[in-house]
Amino acid sequence: MKRKDEIGKLAGHFTHMTRSLEQLEEMRQEFVSNVSHEMQSPLASIQGFSHTLLQADLPEEQRRHYLSIIEDESKRMSQLSKQLLMLASLDKEEAILEKSSFDVGDQIRQVLFMTEWSWREKELAIDMDIPSLMIFADSRLMQQVWINLLTNSIKYTDEGGTIFVRLKQQENLCVVEVEDTGIGIAEEDIPNIFQRFYRADKTRSRQEGSSGLGLAITNRIIAMHGGRIEVESELDKGSVFRVILPMM
Ligand code: ADP
Repeated sequence: MKRKDEIGKLAGHFTHMTRSLEQLEEMRQEFVSNVSHEMQSPLASIQGFSHTLLQADLPEEQRRHYLSIIEDESKRMSQLSKQLLMLASLDKEEAILEKSSFDVGDQIRQVLFMTEWSWREKELAIDMDIPSLMIFADSRLMQQVWINLLTNSIKYTDEGGTIFVRLKQQENLCVVEVEDTGIGIAEEDIPNIFQRFYRADKTRSRQEGSSGLGLAITNRIIAMHGGRIEVESELDKGSVFRVILPMM
C-alpha cells in the first residue's frame, strides 16, 4: 500500500473496492430487513383480526369493521409489492427506457382527472397552468412520476388547501412544479425523503397507508431520463417539488 508505483496503486484500488462491496452488502441487508419489517406489520394485523373473526360471535358492525381492516392491510401489502417490483426493474443495470413522443401536459391533466375523487373528497382546490408540451420520454414511467407527486401533495395537505401544478418549457428543458399548502417537510428531513422507506411524518404517513418508496421510485425514473428533482419546503406552510427534464 505504501509503494508509489503501479502495485501500490493496485493495492489502493483493491482496498477501495472491498470497502464499496462491504457497503453494498450492508445496504442490501438493511433493505431486506426493511422489507421484512414492512410486510410483518400488515400480516400481523391480518392474522390477528381473522383469528378474532373466526373465534368470536361478533356483532355485525364489529365484524364489518375488522373485515375492512383486513381489506386495507391486504391492499397495503399489494401496493408495497407492486412498488418493490417496480424498483427492482428500475434497478436492473440493463433497465431500458421505452421512449416515445407524447404531450406531457395532456398526461398530467389526465393524472389530475384520475385522482379527482381524492382531492375532491378533501375539498382541495387545484390551480393549474398546464399547456401542451411534447417531450420524448418513457410515458408509462413519467405517468408514475406525476401520480407519485400528486398523490403525495393530496395526502400531505389538509382539507381546504390548494395544489398548484405548473408546466413550462425553459429552453430545451421541461419544468414541472407540484406545489401544495400542506404540512411541509422539516429542513433536516429534506435530504432523506428520496431514500427508500424513509418517512418524515411517521404517524401521518402510516395512517395514510404509505410505504416511503414513492419518492425513491420518482427520483430513479427522473435520473434515468437525465433529469433532476428539487424540493423546497417549510413546515406547516407547504412544499414545492420541481422536476426538470430534458425534452428530448
Ligand atoms: P410515502 O409513501 O411515505 O408518501 P414517499 O417516498 O412518497 O413515501 O415520501 C417520503 C416522505 O416524504 C413521506 O413519508 C413524507 O413524510 C414526505 N413527503 C413527500 N411528499 C410530501 C409533501 N408533498 N408534503 C409533505 N411531506 C411530503
